[in-house]
Amino acid sequence: MIRTIGLTGGIGSGKSTVSSLFAEQGAAIIDTDDIAHRLTRPCGIAIPAIRAEFGDHYIAEDGALDRAGMRALVFADAAARHRLERLLPPADTRQAETELLQAGTAPYAILVVPLLPQAPAFRRLVQRVLVVDCDEATQLARIIRRSRLSEVEARAIIASQTPRAERLKLADDIIYNDGDLDALADQVGCAAPQLPAKQRLTICWEYHISFAPNNPTTKHRATTA
Ligand code: ADP
Repeated sequence: MIRTIGLTGGIGSGKSTVSSLFAEQGAAIIDTDDIAHRLTRPCGIAIPAIRAEFGDHYIAEDGALDRAGMRALVFADAAARHRLERLLPPADTRQAETELLQAGTAPYAILVVPLLPQAPAFRRLVQRVLVVDCDEATQLARIIRRSRLSEVEARAIIASQTPRAERLKLADDIIYNDGDLDALADQVGCAAPQLPAKQRLTICWEYHISFAPNNPTTKHRATTA
């Protein structure tokens, strides 16, 4: 199986932006959010299991998951959220595994896992966990700017996700995305833009780079000049 980095982070932390930057360097990107959407669209392969667990009420007329209804349910009812979490990650993981096997000639893959990065089903697919992190004020501002949610709604989504401190404990490596897009690109660009792309990828994989050279809490620091 292709070498795989699990990329996670809270909503608005910058996962999609970071994964696009990795894609520019040739990494294969597999996003479990996209997979979950595909599995729960009309006739998606997760629909029968959701119907069996929750009844017809959460399946829309076109046969897709009623996302708004399910979102409201799992927000209000932690037990329902756990039931859904027991169903979806295994289905998402099976699909992710299939896509990783088909990743072709890419030197490595980034498996984007927005939700439940601690789930054993995902952990067994990745060799390293990379967390994209930013402070909560930045996160809130980005969510509100992107989606026009209110601050209360944005805070409620953050509160429903894995807590920041817990997520950081999962990290082998951390990208601190509190700066601008150039600062982010520098971190993902392996701080060695003069190298040929292939070499950069190898360096990236080995993490002989500093994702955040000036941050004393960076877990992995540069070992190359
Ligand atoms: P996620 O995938 O984690 O939800 P995104 O990558 O979609 O987060 O980023 C959230 C929003 O913040 C997007 O509109 C993105 O363009 C913007 N963004 C991400 N990183 C930066 C940055 N370093 N500087 C400015 N805007 C950023």
